[in-house]
Amino acid sequence: MTPELMISNKVRSMEVSATLKMAQKARDLAAKGVHVISLSLGEPDFDTPEFIKEAAYQALKKGNTKYTPVPGTMDIRKAISEKFTSENGLDYAPSQIVVSNGAKQSIANIFMAILNPGDEVIVPAPYWVSYVEIIKFSGGIPVVVSADIEDDFKVNASHIEAAITDKTKAIIFSSPCNPTGSVFTEQELRSIADVIAKHENIIVIADEIYEYINFTDSHISIGTFDNMKHRTATVNGFSKGFSMTGWRLGYMGAPQWLADACNKVQGQITSGAASFSQEAGAVALRAKSKETVEMKEAFKRRRDLIIAHLKQVPGLKVNNPQGAFYVFPDISYYFGTSNGSITINNADDFSEAMLTEAHVGTVSGSAFGNDNCIRLSYAASDDEIIEAVRRIKVCLESFK
Ligand code: PMP
Ligand code: GLU
Repeated sequence: MTPELMISNKVRSMEVSATLKMAQKARDLAAKGVHVISLSLGEPDFDTPEFIKEAAYQALKKGNTKYTPVPGTMDIRKAISEKFTSENGLDYAPSQIVVSNGAKQSIANIFMAILNPGDEVIVPAPYWVSYVEIIKFSGGIPVVVSADIEDDFKVNASHIEAAITDKTKAIIFSSPCNPTGSVFTEQELRSIADVIAKHENIIVIADEIYEYINFTDSHISIGTFDNMKHRTATVNGFSKGFSMTGWRLGYMGAPQWLADACNKVQGQITSGAASFSQEAGAVALRAKSKETVEMKEAFKRRRDLIIAHLKQVPGLKVNNPQGAFYVFPDISYYFGTSNGSITINNADDFSEAMLTEAHVGTVSGSAFGNDNCIRLSYAASDDEIIEAVRRIKVCLESFK
């Protein structure tokens, strides 16, 4: 048997998640005894708040360990529906909500549910790594529309309009954005909505997983606009705002037809999310907890810290991200330089050099649709942030 021939074409042409790959490389190097500072994985470094863990213990103790309905328990769907209304001004009934094993699965459900071969999905770049791979895996074609650091990495409505064809089925973006931290203003979202509204059959997938880590204090959901209400799927989850990455809990609210289709997909693939995660998730959502706000404040302080230090590194261009916990500096100044043994020709080389020479894990911008930048996650301690940037600076001094 030839294993390569056994693997489907679809999987062979799929990229390994670059964020997960770089995080693993950093772990492998650390396992060899090297002191690596990993700023590669997008994962809050805080523990899950105690009251959420307590809710899960109680759920387990009372025997909440069985299958739940595929789209989630009625209790968590009610909690999500109420959260959408009270915090976002969004109107999704519990029947329009599907709870999944992470927002990643919510996104996969949607693309599997709507895409036929050749359908196009507009993906503003820089984008989160997994969007394009999930779209391709589901038979669709990602149509990438790019924005640079000078525009704070935000595409405008006319860029999007130019990319629309009669094959366009959807657009997906995150705001606050992974990997740039950019946040669309209400005005920017309204102009994007006005362009999309001209086309009856385009749906919007608004990935709002970084909602609680927004330093502008104004989180706008595109699904609240009158012309977008009936065609927006709003994706969110517990991984970032509640520091619950390992609990695998995400959700979406969507028009009823799309929620039904996602329910059908999920019912054949994974069934409902973990029962006790769901019970604890409902408690987390209803608590309006101070921990969420404290984590945001900590990220904001660290954003200021990492930006101040990165600005001291010659040649790097940085902007001022308004949310999430990433910075996305332009490092193209170093293309064509060498330290004698390694030459940096692109962002992949830069990221690799930072790992092997400076022992700092980052992710190349190429994975996010931008070849001039790298992503640094500042979900790390102050000391790690300062030391990581110091190492990068010292390392780059030898590249001429
Ligand atoms: N969307 C974005 C923009 C993300 O950064 C992540 C991070 N993992 C996800 C979705 C998926 O999150 P999860 O599956 O952990 O809920
Ligand atoms: N979303 C996070 C990141 O971008 C976690 C890793 C992943 O799920 O890809 O790093």
